Amino acid sequence: MRRQRLLNATLDFRKEHIVNNLKHYKDLGLVNTREMFKKAMKGGYAVPAYNFNNMEQLQAIAIGCVESKSPVILQVSGSARKYADPTLLPHLVKGAVAMARKMGSPISIALHLDHGDSFELAKDCIDSGFSSVMLDGSHHSFDENVMLTKAVVDYAHERDVTVEGELGVLAGVEDEVSSTVSHYTKPEEVEEFVEKTGVDSLAISIGTSHGAYKFKLKPGEEVPSLRFDILKEIEKRLPGYPIVLHGASSVTPEHVALINRYGGKLESAVGIPAEQLRQAARSAVCKINIDSDGRLAMTALIRQIFAEKPAEFDPRKYLGPARGELIKMIKHKNITVLGSADHA
Ligand SMILES: [Zn+2]
Repeated sequence: MRRQRLLNATLDFRKEHIVNNLKHYKDLGLVNTREMFKKAMKGGYAVPAYNFNNMEQLQAIAIGCVESKSPVILQVSGSARKYADPTLLPHLVKGAVAMARKMGSPISIALHLDHGDSFELAKDCIDSGFSSVMLDGSHHSFDENVMLTKAVVDYAHERDVTVEGELGVLAGVEDEVSSTVSHYTKPEEVEEFVEKTGVDSLAISIGTSHGAYKFKLKPGEEVPSLRFDILKEIEKRLPGYPIVLHGASSVTPEHVALINRYGGKLESAVGIPAEQLRQAARSAVCKINIDSDGRLAMTALIRQIFAEKPAEFDPRKYLGPARGELIKMIKHKNITVLGSADHA
């Protein structure tokens, strides 16, 4: 009896110890986004936030950013975290940082929760090694959004973790969010929101949207421009304050074409033109989120290999090339779209 109790206590202690072992992001070799954004603002570029949920994507993001000497925000949604496993995830990230250092790279790396929808989720992420979290209260009323965001900011700042808030609603479907309509951010609300919550950065809605189907275009119709007028007005009201763009994939036409050529069905998938993202990156936009483009790059290569080599069944033979394509895409984005390359 006593022996069993002792044994249980030891097991409990071990369990606790294993979980709490990686408590703070500094133990994982990560940084928060504060300095990253300061440098990005000064340098006129945006830090890339690439979403991932498995090892190959994480490897590709780390290698692509090491090779292009870019700071990087490793970004995980609540459901991606569940997919990768909340206990395993910090270890994966710690390993990715170690890999970057082994490659001789000093790049700054942050781990960020994308679209956190509750205080509990944000807290859980902070307690397990995230250096930055988003609380997306944009679907709530202004006052509720302020309340929710402020609670997370208070908890996060005590632990030197940075917080992203959101005002305005993006259309489209993402892991955690979906909306059929978009509501542009109201510039007249941003000062009060930032002041009342103390958030470190603000995601805004100026015409980007989630997913691979950002615009419904008629034949011959061009992609509408982002609302740079709204961005300008927000910059005027919050000088030097870091702005975030979600739903900012370009939906690379070559990858869409490759997917469709090899049996896929992505009709009329359209994204944000690279030139508009470049323009945004030169402004107060300090963080640009890219998820769909990474998914498309991997899927394109996997489809191609499955079609061309139907006898192949070693996952390394299709996930490897898919990872290679993702590395190429990430380097291209950092160098030519976000301008973050060589700003390690
Ligand atoms: Zn988003």
